[in-house]
Amino acid sequence: MKKTQSSLKIIPLGGSEEVGRNCTVFEYANEIIVLDLGLDFPTEETPGVDYIIPNIDYLKKNKNKIKAIVISHGHLDHIGAIPYLISEIDFPPIYGLPLTIGLIRERLEEFGLEKKVKLKTINLDSTLKFKNFSLSFFHVNHNIPDSVGVVFKTPVGSLVHTGDFKIDLTPTDQKPIDLEKIKKIGEEGVLVLFSDSTNATEPGSTLSEKKVAEMIDQLFSQIKGRIIFTTFSTLISRIQEVIKSAEKYHRRVAIVGLAMEKTIRVALNLGYLKVKPETIIWPQKIKKISDEKIVILASGSQGIESSALARISSGKHQLVKIKKGDTVIFSSSPIPGNERAVHNLMNLLVDQGAKVIYEPLFGIHASGHASQEDLKMIISLIKPRYFVPAYGEHYMFAAHAELAKEVGIPQENIFILNNGDCLEIDKNKNAKIIKNKVKSEAILVDGLGIGDVKHVVLRDRKTLAEAGIFVIILLADRKRRNVNNLEIISRGFVFLKESEKLINETKKKIKKIAQKYLKTKAKIIDWEPLKTKLRNQISDYLFSKTGRRPMVLPLIIEI
Ligand SMILES: [Zn+2]
Repeated sequence: MKKTQSSLKIIPLGGSEEVGRNCTVFEYANEIIVLDLGLDFPTEETPGVDYIIPNIDYLKKNKNKIKAIVISHGHLDHIGAIPYLISEIDFPPIYGLPLTIGLIRERLEEFGLEKKVKLKTINLDSTLKFKNFSLSFFHVNHNIPDSVGVVFKTPVGSLVHTGDFKIDLTPTDQKPIDLEKIKKIGEEGVLVLFSDSTNATEPGSTLSEKKVAEMIDQLFSQIKGRIIFTTFSTLISRIQEVIKSAEKYHRRVAIVGLAMEKTIRVALNLGYLKVKPETIIWPQKIKKISDEKIVILASGSQGIESSALARISSGKHQLVKIKKGDTVIFSSSPIPGNERAVHNLMNLLVDQGAKVIYEPLFGIHASGHASQEDLKMIISLIKPRYFVPAYGEHYMFAAHAELAKEVGIPQENIFILNNGDCLEIDKNKNAKIIKNKVKSEAILVDGLGIGDVKHVVLRDRKTLAEAGIFVIILLADRKRRNVNNLEIISRGFVFLKESEKLINETKKKIKKIAQKYLKTKAKIIDWEPLKTKLRNQISDYLFSKTGRRPMVLPLIIEI
């Protein structure tokens, strides 16, 4: 990329084509500030992958310029990639509010990196000063305390990034979003606003956390048997409401699941949760307490197979078995892509006699993201010259752009940035997306390997999962130019015994292809082209017969 001293560059490295792996680069002259360094979770498109993280080649190339990594809040899609990437960019200091830093520290400890990383705790009045940037912060509501929006003062003008946010005038954890401060920032003049697009397609305003708290109280007052409560493990305000209602209705609380345990420990240590000392009990004691006196707080609201709730639902949990009279409350909504897994979980629970309470039937969950009316309010208060929909998928960006137009931002001042796009603003405040894109394709984390799973591997895993494998073992006689024997091994494709006819016909076809190939006049036989021929032709043949395309793997053994 060409370097011009007097222009500001903003490059999203992740989070601009998906909900997750958020990471945005702000660059001016020889300084870079990075906002968020998150991960994304795998989908059906990436079987066997643990996490997806941003490509930071651009940051690696410019690591001497990085002055700070600023984190808007402690969700994994904003902090999760730190342990995987921080060493590659020489450990620049990381800034965040206390809970955010607490959760980052917890994660770094898992990787043994806590001593190497410079973690800097800031507060809402902090200002971070660098040569070309001055950063300040404003409080927003979200599904985790200590969420902030960031103001970047730069030589060409002020930028505002909301981070993830919603407007909640009656939150249960912290104060309402600081609309006064936001208004003031707007009055001082803002060049670009980057705003959370996750709920840009949702009409109206987002439900307040207070309404959810009232619902929890109401349910707890009515339910007689055991309550098993699940929510996002970082949704501390919700966990607080559960604890509050449990204490009010004389129930003890047992926490099952590593994810939930970890956040609760960090939140308790930092004073973000208030609990009477006798309320929380060890899960081992659940059996000793009568059903109407206990709440089991379990992680696993997203149906992830290894989570506590999934193990409970499949009868594999050591301490908690579902029984008739149990009520399972899902105070969450499935993240797009997880719907099937969550519904399967609910089916299993119902089959075992539990009553399941979930959104949207009961008003038992509120999103952490602003809906259309709230988004318009923020744009109106900030009154930016340019608007960039941030954090979301393309259809969300399109919806958010429409909202911006409704409140008076002209079309030509709205920029839709893909991952790797670079928005450049010159000293005359002219903005444009420059031609050269920065590398931004997703990096896949598989076990402990980072980036060693490529698309070929993924494609193979998908084929194996969907259509099985078909192995051809060919014993070939090089001298006599003859196929001596032929074996087929197949898994996950068709049941061999029941498909004798298909297998025999396929064998005939394989022999024909091989014999024809062996008749070549060439003195030395190269097996690779034969393998390719078999792979392609047998794959097509099996597809024409079955409508499925298993992975065809020819092995040629010479005798
Ligand atoms: Zn978030």
